[in-house]
Order: sequence, then structure tokens, then C-alpha cells
Amino acid sequence: MKKIVIAIDGYSSCGKSTMAKGLAQKIGYIYIDSGAMYRAVTLYAIKHGCFTSTETSAENKNLGAEAEQIDAELLRGEMEKIRIDFKLNASTGKPETYLNGVNVEADIRSMEVSSRVSRVAALDFVRQQMVARQQEMGQTKGIVMDGRDIGTTVFPEAELKIFVTASAEVRAQRRYDELTAKGDSVGYDEILANVKQRDYLDEHRDISPLRQAPDALLLDNTQMTIAQQEEWLMKAYAKVIAEEA
Ligand code: C5P
Repeated sequence: MKKIVIAIDGYSSCGKSTMAKGLAQKIGYIYIDSGAMYRAVTLYAIKHGCFTSTETSAENKNLGAEAEQIDAELLRGEMEKIRIDFKLNASTGKPETYLNGVNVEADIRSMEVSSRVSRVAALDFVRQQMVARQQEMGQTKGIVMDGRDIGTTVFPEAELKIFVTASAEVRAQRRYDELTAKGDSVGYDEILANVKQRDYLDEHRDISPLRQAPDALLLDNTQMTIAQQEEWLMKAYAKVIAEEA
């Protein structure tokens, strides 16, 4: 059967990776979480002093990471030292993210990273490197990649493009449930603020802002169960495969 490229873009925390992972497993494709790559760069930036805190005034205290400066030039100089790989965890069957050979899958999902990643992802030199790497991974097709700019910038020729959305409150609740299930003590309000902040930064950045590609199918999963979503996805995939045959 002909292999295609499937691009899944959309807002943060709307379940893109769960659906992309599930679809890839079902149809025997490789799954790549492009957000994990931006998160790994962010983790590296935090660990290598690329964020410098400024005086936190009472006014911007709630903005947390927003009160920091990012030293873009320092990070630019470090980029060639950053190696990101994905390896399959044999016991879970799920891919995990490695930063310079170290498994960082758990660390990159922390609020520490989530609250800074959209600013790192807005840097032109970061995007250029990540996009080039992602395009390399898609050369042989048979790939499901999720992110913000996959259907618009990384694979504008992808045979199947999906743009996912859900209300900010539902997305924050899902993220809250996920993090608290893992034992993280985070507040719902903090997560909702982070979701909204990332949406804003992702939609308003100069390079590859978050947009629905004109030929992408819209999937609003606010009211959908995982099973309904899977059915929707498989139908969309089957339709494209039938058209391509
Ligand atoms: O998908 P996830 O929420 O893990 O992505 C983390 C962040 O990485 C996003 O909020 C966005 O700022 C950035 N990102 C991006 N382009 C992508 C994937 C993620 O800018 N293709």
C-alpha cells in the first residue's frame, strides 16, 4: 500500500500526540512528536543558562517565566551541541525523547519547560534546524508528525492534513488530569493560563505561526471521546488512501 505523510497540527493540549501516536501504531507508521523537539531544546536552554531572570515585580509575578529574558545569542551558539533522537521504549511500545543520549521524556513535559517552550520555538535559528531535521525524517514517508506548522511549513505537500482544536478550558482540564495523575502538584488555573499563553505566542509569532492550512481537515474534539476521534481519523485516512490508489 502506498505510504503517505500525515500532518496533525493544532492548539496545545488538544490530544494531538495521543491521536497521532494511536494512528501511527494502527497503520504501522512512524510517529514523530515535533513539539518534543522544541521542548528538548528548551530543556537544554534552561540547563545551560540561556534564561536569565529579571526582577519579578508584583505585577508580573503571575506571569512566571514571562519575567525572564532569553539569551538568544547564547542559545544560537549552543545549537550545534544539541542532538535530539527518538527511541522506542520496548516495554511501553512508545517513542521517547533523548537529548544528547539522555532520556528526557519526563523532564520535557514539566511546567518549567511548558512555560518557556513557546518563546524558544519562536526563534528563527531554532525553527530552521528543527524543520530541516523533521523534513529529513519524513523523506521515506510512512510518517505521522504532529505539531503547529507541519502541514503549512514542514510538509506542505502532505497527503493528509488535520487541524485539531478544542476549547481552552477542556484542554486545560485534560492537561490537569494528566499531570495530577502523574503526581505533579499543579493548579488548574496555572495550566489554563499556560494553555492560553502558548496559543497566543504560537499564533502571533513571525515565523510559521500556528495556522490551519487551507487544505487541512478541521477536527474539533471538544465533545468527542477518544473512540469517536479514532473512528473519525481512520475514515479520513482511508479516504485519502483510496484517492491515492
Ligand atoms: O506539542 P507541544 O505542546 O508539546 O509543543 C510544545 C510547544 O512547541 C508548542 O507550544 C509550540 O510553541 C512549539 N511547537 C512549535 N512547532 C511545532 C511543534 C511545537 O512551535 N511544530
